[in-house]
Amino acid sequence: MKLYNSLTGKIEEFKPIEEGLVRMYACGMTVYDFAHIGHGRKYINDDVLRRALVYLGYSVKHVQNVTDVGHLVSDGDEGEDKLEKGARKYGKTVWEVAEFYTKHFYDSMDKLNVLRPDVIAKATDHIKEQIDLIQKLFENGFAYDTPEAVYFDVSHFEGYATLFGRQELEDKKAAVREEVHTDPNKKNPADFALWFKRVGRFSDHVMHWDSPWGDGFPGWHIECSAMSMKYLGDQLDIHTGGEDHIPVHHPNEIAQSEAATGKHPFVGYWFHTTFLTVDGTKMSKSLGNFYTIEDVIEKGYDPLALRYLFLTAHYRKRINFTWDALEAAQNALNRLREFVLVYKSKKTDERTMLSAEKLDKVDHFRAEFGNYVSDDLKIPQALAVLWDVVKSNIPDVDKLDLILNFDEVLGLRLGELETEKINPEVMELEDERSRLRAEGKYEEADKIRDRLASEFGIKVKDK
Ligand code: AMP
Ligand code: ZN
Repeated sequence: MKLYNSLTGKIEEFKPIEEGLVRMYACGMTVYDFAHIGHGRKYINDDVLRRALVYLGYSVKHVQNVTDVGHLVSDGDEGEDKLEKGARKYGKTVWEVAEFYTKHFYDSMDKLNVLRPDVIAKATDHIKEQIDLIQKLFENGFAYDTPEAVYFDVSHFEGYATLFGRQELEDKKAAVREEVHTDPNKKNPADFALWFKRVGRFSDHVMHWDSPWGDGFPGWHIECSAMSMKYLGDQLDIHTGGEDHIPVHHPNEIAQSEAATGKHPFVGYWFHTTFLTVDGTKMSKSLGNFYTIEDVIEKGYDPLALRYLFLTAHYRKRINFTWDALEAAQNALNRLREFVLVYKSKKTDERTMLSAEKLDKVDHFRAEFGNYVSDDLKIPQALAVLWDVVKSNIPDVDKLDLILNFDEVLGLRLGELETEKINPEVMELEDERSRLRAEGKYEEADKIRDRLASEFGIKVKDK
């Protein structure tokens, strides 16, 4: 498989550390507000990646965190605490907020047929692991303490400023000067907090724990290093996130993890989903410009139509969400389901009629689909192969086999469609009618069409 690695900016041949096994970590939700369809896009892309790896023969261990510790609204150490903001907005405690939105997130992902991770790790259940990791950073000389917080000293981590091809530290310093609050004891403006103390602006912080540096709470970045390494080991194969994690969160994860273990690289391949936008701007909780899966359902759409829509754009391409696009995706999915239902109702003995040429075609479709999937997840092209199968002249049973095989990657639940709803007598009549039409016996065919209408209330349309 070839994958784009956002750390190097190149498409690379994927090679896991241990043959056959992929250690995959995904940055999860900050659970202070509803999951929206922008999250849907990110986690569907992760899900397609995971399913693709399994399709290609790997086992995948998939770990995902839940950011349920209150953190600040900006990626830097600035602004309001997100969970406290959510608690105020919805009149709940921070713990209730975290529980409620975690459940909402996973319910939403279930509706999009996103497979649950093997491990779901909550930050609040891993405070000890985070403290241990910070202690390791002290031992290795990368952390320092001020009256306000514990920081990671980026000047000790070689290459920090240029990770992910970022701007030089000087530019970052200029940006940091705009910040509202700066700890006067911070050594470098780009140093980031590993632990905040419950003093000053945080003296009322609701979530807090004891630590060797005093009562307080962890910085945002440390949880992902601590939990990914706890469940997957010091080095991971794939780490996923949204494009917003490229400038701050992921460089910080690399710095913390490698500084603690001394092992390089922390992650073999960085996989980032480009945003779903609405009216050209990022759909986000903090901007409040989002639609939830419930909004999608309320407007009469199937959540899997949203999944279909996301499959039509490459994961590194921006999608601007419109209801018209969702309508088109719903129509395409409906048509696909109709075809699959027809194929499912067909008898299997057609297979014996398969000629060598048709076998070739089946192999060709399968190879083409696999090639697109393994070429940096070219899912829109892979989806087009599925439609080529529909349009082809291979027997319906083989079309069904291929489509259900492809759906292991696409995840549109096509295997779960029920044919029992179609009366077998209706299918027999329809088969007979198609045969008569193919033989040019239109009058007899029309008689069957009339019977289908009068006896079964079914209108037949020939396209
Ligand atoms: P958050 O809880 O906002 O940090 O989001 C959880 C994950 O979803 C992160 O990896 C984000 O990058 C990603 N995400 C949030 N909004 C969007 C969006 N509009 N499009 C794609 N991914 C998003
Ligand atoms: Zn993370």
